[in-house]
Amino acid sequence: MDAGLFTIFSLFSFATGACIASFLNVVIWRVPRGESISSPPSHCPKCDAPIRWWQNVPVLSWLALHGKCAGCKAPISPHYLLVELLGGVLFLAAFLHFEAFSTIYPEWSDWIIVCELLVWWIWISLMIVGSFIDFDHKLLPDFVTVGGMVLGCARGVFASIVGMIEAKSSVFSLSAFAPLLMSLAGLAFGFGLLWLVRFLGTKAFKREAMGMGDVFLMGAVGALFGPPTVLGTLILSSVFGSIAGIALMLVDRIRPGRFVEIPYGPYICLGCLTCMFYGNELYSWYMNLFR
Ligand SMILES: [Zn+2]
Repeated sequence: MDAGLFTIFSLFSFATGACIASFLNVVIWRVPRGESISSPPSHCPKCDAPIRWWQNVPVLSWLALHGKCAGCKAPISPHYLLVELLGGVLFLAAFLHFEAFSTIYPEWSDWIIVCELLVWWIWISLMIVGSFIDFDHKLLPDFVTVGGMVLGCARGVFASIVGMIEAKSSVFSLSAFAPLLMSLAGLAFGFGLLWLVRFLGTKAFKREAMGMGDVFLMGAVGALFGPPTVLGTLILSSVFGSIAGIALMLVDRIRPGRFVEIPYGPYICLGCLTCMFYGNELYSWYMNLFR
């Protein structure tokens, strides 16, 4: 890819991510409150002034307005800016990942790589929504978790069909179905493993150890990226969750031994993201420990 095209695609990826995240902000705020995401149009919660299109440009508007409503100067939460930046950065990172990928594996056709990038962008969007809703309300909406499972299985079906066409074989072969089987195995493994953790945790602590939403979310991780990523995500999310739990205890001076309820969904997403971007590096690092 030449430098000009690369720059255009990079900017496009960041802008797309920031715009979609701007919409995700609306979803994160309204869906858990049972409000419609289409009406009423965006307005200031304090003075009800409608937000005009030029006040609604992701990232830039927040910075230009110094995080205040243009009408009443009520502060607009930096949460909005954070989500928009996160969307932009992650969409850009996904583009850079597949751009590097296409030079390492030139046999992958461009349109398949574009489809893979789209799957990542959709999943990143779902994870942003799920994480922030889970932080605020301690729940994971079905459209995030079940949506991820459906996305993973649809990608498996699609990849199997492409595999069959590219193999140009009229003979039925099971190997063509490998991507679909990988999706289904990942779904069953992710769901089953976390269900077991939840079951054992609930027995051990004599209270609900985690929500079913987390179990569904891990099913989605498996359906999208297969069983090895489920294991990686489980390990990383436990590490991230523990660090956050300890940090919370230190900040809030919560006595050890008392139960601190922290949402697990965001850490599953963080673990999954780390595996998506650094899975191979982590795997080689881990294997090198035993040399
Ligand atoms: Zn206002």
